[in-house]
Amino acid sequence: MSKYQPIIGLEIHVQLNTTTKLFCRCLNEYAPEDPNKNICPFCTGQPGALPLLNKEAVKKAIQFGVAVGAKIPERTRWDRKNYFYADLPSGYQISQYDNPIVEGGLVEFYIEDKETGSYKKSSVELTRAHLESDAAKLLHSRGKTYVDFNRSGAPLVEIVTEPVIRSSAQAMAFVNELQLLVRRLGISDGDMEKGQMRFDCNLSLQNESQQSSGDLPSYRTETKNINSVRSLGRAIEYEIIRQTKLLEKGETPVQETRGWKDDLNKSTSQRSKEDAMDYRYFPEPDLKILEISSSDIPELNNLPQLPSDQRNQYIEMGLNMQIVNTFVGQSQLGDLFDSTIELKSVRSESKNKELTIAIANLLTGPVLAASTKNEKDIEEFITNENLLDIAELFSHDKINNKAVVKIIDELISGKKDVKNIVSENNLEQVSDTGALGNIVDSVITNNPKVVEEYKSGKVQVIGFMIGQCMKESKGQGNPKIFKDLLTEKLA
Ligand SMILES: [Zn+2]
Repeated sequence: MSKYQPIIGLEIHVQLNTTTKLFCRCLNEYAPEDPNKNICPFCTGQPGALPLLNKEAVKKAIQFGVAVGAKIPERTRWDRKNYFYADLPSGYQISQYDNPIVEGGLVEFYIEDKETGSYKKSSVELTRAHLESDAAKLLHSRGKTYVDFNRSGAPLVEIVTEPVIRSSAQAMAFVNELQLLVRRLGISDGDMEKGQMRFDCNLSLQNESQQSSGDLPSYRTETKNINSVRSLGRAIEYEIIRQTKLLEKGETPVQETRGWKDDLNKSTSQRSKEDAMDYRYFPEPDLKILEISSSDIPELNNLPQLPSDQRNQYIEMGLNMQIVNTFVGQSQLGDLFDSTIELKSVRSESKNKELTIAIANLLTGPVLAASTKNEKDIEEFITNENLLDIAELFSHDKINNKAVVKIIDELISGKKDVKNIVSENNLEQVSDTGALGNIVDSVITNNPKVVEEYKSGKVQVIGFMIGQCMKESKGQGNPKIFKDLLTEKLA
């Protein structure tokens, strides 16, 4: 038990990628170069303008709820959250107070231990998620402040977690998973540079007796305006250090709202408990209570495959976590892998685990490297058939790594058929021990010094000898067999 243990709850604002805004028909479009392009009397807060609910936003919020295993209530209500601010001319935001559209839920993910490279399973319980409209955006320039209403009224789903997060690493892994999830569901682009995911972080430190009793500290701070995963990690670390210093002096940190200053790498106090906002929530009089029927709630099976399910499936196939995360995070690669595995089962190799791993290694290794180097999309130069052909030849010991790279080069230059490439370029690996034995003999004769070193115990020089054998065989020899033959003949 450490002296102080952080206890963290997050609020994540995710902007939904609906065509239009939440309560008007204005386009929901990121257009910073064209301020006040998509505005109307409602989203500029003019008196008498009435809201008109966007069903698409409701549908996307429900999809999120289903994906995290939450409860979707039969009825959900809209509330006015009243406050005055320059980016909110109506003086209120339409939100949901005590009757949110998503209740509960759980997000599962893995945390990487950077030191050991291992991964640990983790999860975060959600309290709720609700819909609300975004405020406008203020721009400060040369002593003046401008308002851009393009964002005003954009649909947000605010996801609130239980206070169960214990470290910055866990918080960062969790929001990364959320980003993957909303993108996979297609409900948000999750682009943090465009402000489409923003974080508020509630944090306090439990002392030893609170840790054993499970009691929460009497205070907590809320850090707002965090716009990236990296900043979230920094804001948490900053707050842990700041609160620890106060507690060690015998003081209790003030319950307050703090603002994260990304450029300064610190947060500053915005308001304390005494002047905490009182939002005077009340039911929104211009909108009906929303009835949700069971037919509005999709089955989990009808949603895109969740990142966590996909991850588990790959782990079961025997792929290592790094490759698993590459496939889950880069859907183009993941899709190519999936379709190649499908083709593999058609060729009745479905039980060949070694081949599965060969396909995964091929895609994330030489194929991805060639795609980057040649600035070409993978699909432009390689098909599922090609991938499977190469992986089969490799896992059946017919070709070696060098030949794999050569084949990919030939595919990039426009060749189509892997087997033709192999025969035209004489790439088939020689595994015939008779032919390879002759090469081994000549390498041993031509390198007496190295042989001596080997025999005197410097066994690692065998790598050099294998290299010489490979050279002599013009890259066609099977390095495994060379190694066996060398070991045998030098014994
Ligand atoms: Zn509008």
